[in-house]
Order: sequence, then C-alpha cells, then structure tokens
Amino acid sequence: MRPQTTDVRQIAEPRRTADHGRTGHRTPTAPATAHTSAPSVPDRHDHPALRAALAAAVEDTIIYDLDGIGRQYAALCAELPGVAVRFAMKACPVDEVLGHLARLGSGFDAASPQEIAQALRTGADPRLIHYGNTVKSDRNIAEAYRLGVRDFATDCLEDVGAIAEHAPGSRVFCRLATTGEGALWGLSRKFGCSPEDAPRVLGAARSAGLVPSGLSVHVGSQQMTPEAWVTGIDMLAAVLEALDRRGITPDRINLGGGLPALGVLDRRGRPLEPPLDKMFMVIREGMERLRAVNAVPLDFLLEPGRHLVADHGAIRAHVARLSSRRRLDGTREDWLYLSCGKFNGLYEMDQLQYRLEFPTRSGGQFVDAVVAGPTCDSDDAYAQEGLVRVPGAIASGDPVWVHSCGAYASAYATRGFNGFAPLPYTCVGGPAPDGAGA
Ligand SMILES: *Cc1c(COP(=O)(O)O)cnc(C)c1O
Repeated sequence: MRPQTTDVRQIAEPRRTADHGRTGHRTPTAPATAHTSAPSVPDRHDHPALRAALAAAVEDTIIYDLDGIGRQYAALCAELPGVAVRFAMKACPVDEVLGHLARLGSGFDAASPQEIAQALRTGADPRLIHYGNTVKSDRNIAEAYRLGVRDFATDCLEDVGAIAEHAPGSRVFCRLATTGEGALWGLSRKFGCSPEDAPRVLGAARSAGLVPSGLSVHVGSQQMTPEAWVTGIDMLAAVLEALDRRGITPDRINLGGGLPALGVLDRRGRPLEPPLDKMFMVIREGMERLRAVNAVPLDFLLEPGRHLVADHGAIRAHVARLSSRRRLDGTREDWLYLSCGKFNGLYEMDQLQYRLEFPTRSGGQFVDAVVAGPTCDSDDAYAQEGLVRVPGAIASGDPVWVHSCGAYASAYATRGFNGFAPLPYTCVGGPAPDGAGA
C-alpha cells in the first residue's frame, strides 16, 4: 500500500498513443480522475524515504537512498544465493553509496586506478575489488597492482602480456564477447573475445605465470530478456569444456552486469517492465549447468551497476518553462524544459524516459509535451516521439521530481556545460546522519 498521501494523478503519465504521432496542439484532456485507473508508479517503486527527501528539498539536488540500495543488495543476494556481488562503481561512484555497500559485504568492479583508490578509501577490502576493464595501459595495471588488486579482466594476448609484466602472478578472467541483443546498451564490440579465442588467451596467461581463474560475460546494460543470459551461459559452458580439454580449470564465473532498473520507461514513455523473476530463474539454472560441466567447484560473481542503484536515486529539479511553439511545418508542439537534463544528471534521457512527478500540481488540464533539459544542445531531450503528460498550469520554478535516476547520473554530469553545474547530492538513510553528502 502507498504509505503516503501522494495522489498518483500528479505523476506524469506517459502518452500511450505516441505511435500515432503528435497531436500538435494543446489538447484539452479529460479531468485528472480519468487517469487514476492506470497509475504509472506501481507500489514497488514507492520509496517513502526518497519521497520525504524530495519533498523537503527546496533546491535542485540528487538524492540517494542508502537503505533502499542496501535492500536492493540484500534482495539480489537472496535471489542468487552464493553469488558474490562486485558493484560496478561507474554506475554510482558516490562515497557514501560505496561505503554503505562495502559495509554490507559487497565487493567492487573497478575500471581504473582512480576507481580502485576510491573503493579503498570508502572501506572496500582490496581482495574484493577486481579490475574489470579490459582496456588498461601498462601504467594502469602497475598502479592497480600497487594498490593491492590481484584480479584482472582480460580479452586479448596483448593485455595478458602486460598483466604478466606489471601485475605478476595475478588472477585473470577472460571476458567473452556477447551480441548485446535485448539490451538498451549492447556493449558488444568494444569488449570481449570470441569463444574460440578464450582458451588461447587463458592458455597464454598460464604460460606467463598468471592464474587463469575464470571467464566473464556482460549481456548488455538494461538487458530486457532472460534469453540473453541463457545464450551467455551456453557460451560459457562451451568454453569451460574447451578449456577442460586444454587442462585449464577455472574456478570462477563472472556473470557481469546488465540486470535492469525497474522504474524507467522506454523512449516512447512505456514502462519497460523487465521480467526480473525469470532472469533470476535462468541465472540460477545456468549456474547449476555450469557447475555440472566444470571439473572443480565454481564460484560465481555478478557485477551489477544499474540494478542496485537506479531505482533508489531521484532528482529534485524545477521547471524552466512550459512553452508552445509552431514547427516549420506548421504543427504546434509543447515543450517542457527542466532545470536538469542530459548534461547534469539525466545522461540517459535520449534512450529512455525517467518518470516525472509534479508534486505541486494536480488536476486541471494536461498538455502532451516533449521533455528537455536546459542546455543549448538538441540531444538534451527525451525522444520526440515520446510525449509526456504535463499539468498545463505548471509554471517556471515549480518543483519536478525525476524518479529512478540513481544510476549513471552524477558521474556522467559534465563540468558545467552551458554553465549548468553538476547537481549537489544528498544521501538519506544508512548509518550516517541524513544530509551527510555534499
Ligand atoms: C558497466 C559495467 C557493468 C555494470 O553494468 P550495468 O548494466 O550497469 O549492470 C558491469 N561490468 C562491467 C565490466 C561494466 O563495464
């Protein structure tokens, strides 16, 4: 049940007829009550602590709910017993978030010496940090080794040679390429080697004095299909068998990231609704299968980024302007410009929609508008076929709550493109006093 009195009618409702094109003018819409039958925010997205912090904010800020992130971590561990989590830091490199996850026992997937140093600074155990980036210079490897990291991702002979030289004796896991099919962001070509090359890469690692400890896959970020894990696990099983024939026996499998956020909408404003339970089921079955083909017991790792934090961060922004303009072809178009956009917190806004809430306006007429950020860049906007239902009376300065933007928000903010500075942040919950962030 919704613990607060918030009226779901205030929540921007995605316009579901977007396929038929824009209406082109301010549409007088049905009274707000017409929308109550289809609340766009199911109970599982209801986060009282986050809502209270949003309501208390009087200036723009990004808020992270540490207890929410902690619950998400615990839920994931419960769904996949025996799997060790290595949080992909890039999704939320916020000290308080990392510290909280470290206290709960999480490890970290770091992509640079700077990330490793941050994880250590916030309390991570170096044995639970791995260098998960296949792209690294000699200097990066040496620095990571100096900081105590002994686990490295790799996908090619050149990188194996460098690890052997600059991080001697370390464990390496070979990343297999995936198609990225079914994911909003595929990550397919830049990383990973073919299943045929993997035994060669790990064989070279062994010859160079490294420990060929495992394999990894990443099925693509915001993966929407359980089949992607089935395909990945099939490939892992085949490579484990090929490795066995060469006398290489890994003892760990890293199933990567990719688990989705739940509360975001697609580019057209339709809820994404990833089949999370099915995903966990195929992952559990896949782990059984891989254990059955491998000669020694296997440990499993997961590198979730988005899934742990996305739904537990929100932005308090404000309305810059709701405006109506005629396009060159004469059609009228409404635009809602926010104080916050692609370059200061909503980096993924051109590929998905975040749910918006207008806490001070309910009822009255609605307008179907394109939502955009404040800068002079046309990428700083939602996809234009995905109109958002906005209260027509909304005024410059009114608060806007942007939900499920806890992943890939702060670290992707520019240094102040067009003068729009990165948002300050606040953390609620966790062991520190509220508002400990800065
Ligand atoms: C980005 C990344 C992740 C996290 O991806 P999500 O889709 O956010 O879960 C995990 N592992 C590696 C190697 C990555 O680069």
